[in-house]
Amino acid sequence: MPGNIERVLIIGLDCAEPSLVFDLWRGYLPNLRRLMEQGAWTTMNSTTPPITIPAWSCMMTSKDPGTLGIYGFRNRKDFTYAGLSFATSTAVKEPRLWDILGQAGKSSILLGVPGTYPVSPVNGAMVGCFLTPDPATNNYTYPASLRDEIDGVLGKNQYRVDVSNYRTENKADLLREIYEMTDRRFALAKHWIQTKPWDFFMLVEMGIDRVHHAFWRYFDPQHRKYEPGSPYAHAIRDYYLHVDQLIGELLDRLPARTAVIVVSDHGSKRIDGGIAINEWLIRQGYLTLAEYPKQPTPLGMLPVDWTKTKVWSEGGYYARVFINRQGREPQGIVSSSQYESLRDELILKLEALGDEAGRPIGTRAYRPEQLYRKCNAIPPDLVTIFGQLLWRSIGSVGYHAVHVFDNDTGPDDANHAQDALFIMSGPGIPAGRIAPIDLLDVAPTVLKLLGFPVPPDMQGRAL
Ligand SMILES: [Zn+2]
Repeated sequence: MPGNIERVLIIGLDCAEPSLVFDLWRGYLPNLRRLMEQGAWTTMNSTTPPITIPAWSCMMTSKDPGTLGIYGFRNRKDFTYAGLSFATSTAVKEPRLWDILGQAGKSSILLGVPGTYPVSPVNGAMVGCFLTPDPATNNYTYPASLRDEIDGVLGKNQYRVDVSNYRTENKADLLREIYEMTDRRFALAKHWIQTKPWDFFMLVEMGIDRVHHAFWRYFDPQHRKYEPGSPYAHAIRDYYLHVDQLIGELLDRLPARTAVIVVSDHGSKRIDGGIAINEWLIRQGYLTLAEYPKQPTPLGMLPVDWTKTKVWSEGGYYARVFINRQGREPQGIVSSSQYESLRDELILKLEALGDEAGRPIGTRAYRPEQLYRKCNAIPPDLVTIFGQLLWRSIGSVGYHAVHVFDNDTGPDDANHAQDALFIMSGPGIPAGRIAPIDLLDVAPTVLKLLGFPVPPDMQGRAL
């Protein structure tokens, strides 16, 4: 099977939901359907947590989040109470697929792969990811001169790394921005596929993630905030159709002997609500504030009495729970001998925490060392996934409630789902649905397709 294949194209669709592509909208998506009919396809288990940062970097290194020491968009950088800071590309210490291919003399073109800002040298070309602050004023390409080339194709400063704000009530402008961003990214990809030499080409489109978060309530009758008959009822479906068409245009331009992989980093599902984790910790006696706020306020801005606090947590797609340990945190009060029993107690209580009516929601709390081969950098003391990802974690305090139905960082209709999608088509690749795979299997599979050995420390396996 390898040997016939000289190049690999990965089309990354951030957050693309397998049930929508494989089942619900399959009839609307001729190009993805054709890839499925001609190739192998399946669901793919994402990382825990299933979050963009670290998921794409895990996919490209075949290493789990603990091994990378990246536990989410934001990470603890020391044991103080200073809060979390954003993980940029400099946090990724393991070689990524393009580093390995580059050492073997193969060239890569990387367009918006999450985890590539700041950009770094590559044998080929790199356009930084959606975390690039403002491409008009920051260097977002390697080599730097690539910027002029992009301006030449799209017009000056027309390339968008992301939309300006997807958690907004201004849906019309957002939708327009999403289409603009996507069209420009694919226009660039189309141009480079034909005009640049490459062995490995990868683009990641963020639009699907944005359209899910902003428009899910208009199409899913199970959503608590479902709005029937909205002009946006088909916004998500129509956007998938549009992306399918753009994929078709890319496929039409592919050189022979190219394998194509379409992949997402996680799926998407409706959101039922948020668990105000620090409110809960206060009620349970684990967290003490000198004063309860008059309005919802991020914990970092509140007067925590650390001498009376055993546990605190962060908001986000999942809850990172931290224990105030003696000898570790500046004012730690939980001794080493209490630490494990406290974690046991928290796991039991968190997993029993139901919805606003006390009905079970299937929360799971994990010790990070259970999930990962290694726990580099500073892992949370517990990784808590609320209600099988139908609930998110709310870090702010001041709701006088544990169950909250508006997100504290802006309107957001969707959460991430554990299953991502995977479609692979090319000369010699057998067609049909295959058994589910793991996100860590992608990099080894690409190496095998291109005829390279899989480094023994990669944690996935080649298909
Ligand atoms: Zn993502």
